[in-house]
This record gives sequence, C-alpha cells and structure tokens, in this order.
Amino acid sequence: MKATRTRLPPWLRKRLSPGEDMQPVLNLLKELSLRTVCQDARCPNIAECFGRGTATFMILGGVCTRGCTFCAVARGRPAPPEPGEPDRISEAVRRLGLSHVVVTSVTRDDLPDGGSGHFAQTIRAVHRDTTATVEVLTPDFKGRLEDVDRVLDAAPEVFNHNVETVARLYAAVRPQADYGRSLGVLARAAGSPLSPITKSGLMLGLGEAEDELLAVLADLRRAGCRALTLGQYLAPSAAHRPVAEFVRPERFEQLKARALEMGFEAVASGPFVRSSYKAGRLLAHVMNYRERRSNGRSGGKDGV
Ligand code: SF4
Repeated sequence: MKATRTRLPPWLRKRLSPGEDMQPVLNLLKELSLRTVCQDARCPNIAECFGRGTATFMILGGVCTRGCTFCAVARGRPAPPEPGEPDRISEAVRRLGLSHVVVTSVTRDDLPDGGSGHFAQTIRAVHRDTTATVEVLTPDFKGRLEDVDRVLDAAPEVFNHNVETVARLYAAVRPQADYGRSLGVLARAAGSPLSPITKSGLMLGLGEAEDELLAVLADLRRAGCRALTLGQYLAPSAAHRPVAEFVRPERFEQLKARALEMGFEAVASGPFVRSSYKAGRLLAHVMNYRERRSNGRSGGKDGV
C-alpha cells in the first residue's frame, strides 16, 4: 500500500490501553537525569513499554553528530559525556527490576573513541550491580574496529547494530553511514570470542524493493547476524523523509518466515516492531533455540 502521508492505515492506529501507567518510569528518569530513545525518537510504543516498566536508555546525550533523514533525534554539537551516567543507568536498571536492558546512544563522531568507552563503562556498571543481561545498540564507530572491540570486551550479551535500510538508500537515508561498514561492525561482533548474540534491524517503507531487502537479509546472515527486527518506518515529522509505503501486517509475517528459513534464530517482524521492542523476549527465543539445538532437537526457530 502506498503512503498517503495524511492518514495512517487501520493497522497503524494505536490505542492506549487503560492500564498503561507511564508515570513511575517517567519519575525515575527525571530523578536520575536519564534519557531514553523512546522519548527522543518519539517511539509509538512508549506507552506500552513505559507502562510495562521498561525503557531503552540513551547514553552520551541527546544531540547527534549525524543527520539521518529518518531520525527525530536532534543534530548538532553534543556536550561531553557525563562520567556519572553509567552508574545512574545501573541504578535505574536495579530500581526497575529489569532482567534485560537495552542501551543505545547518539552517534558521537566528535569523540576520539566514538563513545565506545562510555558504552563499556555502562555495560560493566550494570553487570556489577545487577543480574540483568545487557543489549547494546551501537553506532558504527566510523568502522573503527578497536572501538567495536572496546564495547565487546565489556561482554554485552547482545550486540545490536542496525543497518536500518537497503544499500541503495544509504545516500538518502543515512548519508554519513556506509552499508559495508555496518556489515563489518556486525561481522566483528559475530566473530568475537565472547560470542554475544549479534542482532540487526531494518525499517520498511523507506522505498526499498523486495529483492534489495532479501539481499540485505542474506548479507546479514553472511556477517553472522543471528537475530533480526523488521518494523514500519514512520516519519517523525513533515520535515523528515516521507513514508514511501505502509507495509501490510501479512507481509511482515511472510518476511519473518523467510528470514527464519534463511537461518536467523529469532525474528521480530511487525508494523510496530522497533529494534528494542520486547528485546528480552527476542533474547529468550535465541537462548531457547540454542538450548534445543545443543540438546539435539531440531527445528522450532522462533518468530517473536
Ligand atoms: S520499542 Fe524500544 S524505543 Fe520504543 S518505547 Fe519500547 S523500549 Fe522504547
């Protein structure tokens, strides 16, 4: 279905359910001076996720050094990293009682290490203070593998880096990124001796063609990527790249089945799926799949 830009199709109209109380999470974020990508990127799932008492933390400030045309996060000159932030994230994880936490950041091309040291400190602080598993959703660090390794050395359970879209659209959608470089980051994580689960994701509806999309999934598998998220792109405002297509829910289901056939161990695919949406469930699916495989039982890979 082609986008009209003024009206969302029925499957993208989200209703608030009465039980969703966002206030406890909002209060904690304010008290600890923490940011979330849920708020900064205007995620449509925020009421559901905050209402369930979870959030995806965004470290290294709220200003990005890049200008991706799909993204609502502010662009400009960021402030220096806050040394106390990793401990505050850890405290939030503990107080929310999270068993799995997703930590992401703006892209910090201005920092000599791209912010990788701050990621590593945050992972270590959460592991030191809680039993939560940690998923990092990182920028590409300009392809500097020593920065990728710095994050990997802190032993996140999941290393996530989104390719976001197909190679042809990079110049228009992620002008300062590079498709091959992103695959290189994922391949580095997949080859790490600490074996994190390597994960990536794409937004659909940016103008990608079917064969281009399937080519990306094949490239991700070749890079060693095990978990995948596919969701609908929604333009944050009229100033952002317009939606090219609203992809029907049935198509997301078909793509999930196809991705599982291609060897992904867990796939979340649906109009409202975001890379951090129910991330703990996706991790559990990968772990179940691996356990079944190590017990000699075949099949049963999971969509989420
Ligand atoms: S899907 Fe992710 S970014 Fe969106 S509200 Fe939930 S945790 Fe936040």
